[in-house]
Amino acid sequence: MNVNDALTPVGNREEVALAEHVDVVVALRVRVVQQLLPVRAPPRGELRTGQRGQPALRLKRGHEAARTHPWIFKGDVADVSDRVEPGGVVSVVDPGGRFVGRGLFNPRPGLCCRLLTWTDEAIDAGFWRRRLGAACAGRAARPGAARLVWSEADALAGLVVDRYGPVAVLQTVTLGMARRRAELAAALRETIGDIAVFCADDPTAATLEGFEPAAGWLDEPGPTSVIVEEGAARFLVRVGGGHKTGLYLDQADNRQRVATLAAGRAVLDVFAYTAGFACHALLAGATSAICVESSKDALAGAVDNLALNGVAARAEVRDTNAFDELRRLDRAGARFGLVVLDPPPFARGRGALEGALRGYKEINLRAIRLLEPGGALATFSCSHHVSDDAFEAMVRDAASDAGVRLRVLAPLTQSADHPVLLTVPETRYLKGLLLERM
Ligand code: SAH
Repeated sequence: MNVNDALTPVGNREEVALAEHVDVVVALRVRVVQQLLPVRAPPRGELRTGQRGQPALRLKRGHEAARTHPWIFKGDVADVSDRVEPGGVVSVVDPGGRFVGRGLFNPRPGLCCRLLTWTDEAIDAGFWRRRLGAACAGRAARPGAARLVWSEADALAGLVVDRYGPVAVLQTVTLGMARRRAELAAALRETIGDIAVFCADDPTAATLEGFEPAAGWLDEPGPTSVIVEEGAARFLVRVGGGHKTGLYLDQADNRQRVATLAAGRAVLDVFAYTAGFACHALLAGATSAICVESSKDALAGAVDNLALNGVAARAEVRDTNAFDELRRLDRAGARFGLVVLDPPPFARGRGALEGALRGYKEINLRAIRLLEPGGALATFSCSHHVSDDAFEAMVRDAASDAGVRLRVLAPLTQSADHPVLLTVPETRYLKGLLLERM
């Protein structure tokens, strides 16, 4: 990929990454891609499906990764009973007819089924209540803004729910989940009480799955702008506007962590979006902050948030391309005590990796040169395809080109409300390093 392609503002970074990752995995795992599933009525009794006699999908021998990973690709499927509806529930059985799990089926995409349970239980209103209850209980410590449901990581593959105070933003990624929006919202309201539900489906996923992406209030309209608290900071969220579902919630923990290094320092917040890192840093005692961002909407949000937190007087917002601005600051010999680099995903697929790493290295090299001695750099990549090792090697290369020695203060990852499943590596996408110039 041309690095400049990465310069356009990007919305739902990890969800899109997941969707594209799926395409790549399909290409890798399915040698002979079956365009159509072999749909036929199985001979009576051939597919044992647990006790309920539901429509069944049988896995091929040697294609049983679904025991620990919820994704089933067309190439994994031996046969499917003809009673399976697109978007409907299907019981998955192994080649011997033994129950593996139950999930939602869609004959259209390569990833044709995502498992929701490995227990022989019905997927009904009670199921959604239990699952949503468990997911929300795990976020009880985050009363303001939080990702309440993180798809596969909460055993609710295909569903993302973010809460912003009195509003829940619901994002469905599969046909099965999209058809159940009302049922899911009802279960959510039973779990956390009455809440306005805004639907914000990702159009890329909707096209892949074949449903109309919803964008708007599910039933009763709620407030269109909400102020949420995140530690010491307050952020204005425009429901249905901006990137992701409103905020980059995945960086919430890092914003607060990085701010602990900010006191008395000049801060450069690059790829600032609505100035989340800068607001926290200034509240924690940073002397000044420059926010670099190229999206007009994000810049307007940054101005609002800096004012809302009473730190606007120490902040400057620069409407410019981060690559150009880093080069300019470097040439001007500028120095900062804290630099944050939080770019959009440069690698949208495995094929774009090389170009992406060049782009990451370019900005990291500049950022490292801008650090004063003892200064800190928080640098991130949200591209799932960039491995931890590749990321670290890229920053090491940049440091060595800059002739600067860096101490690792901490590895960084996505916020705790975006949990990671060991057996589903796709649930982990955000990586970062907190470094100190020696
Ligand atoms: N740090 C932010 C999230 C950053 S997301 C937070 O904590 O909220 C990445 C941001 O980079 C987006 O807001 C996007 O608009 C911006 N962006 C993308 N390409 C850019 C470029 N070339 N120059 C400046 N900003 C860019």
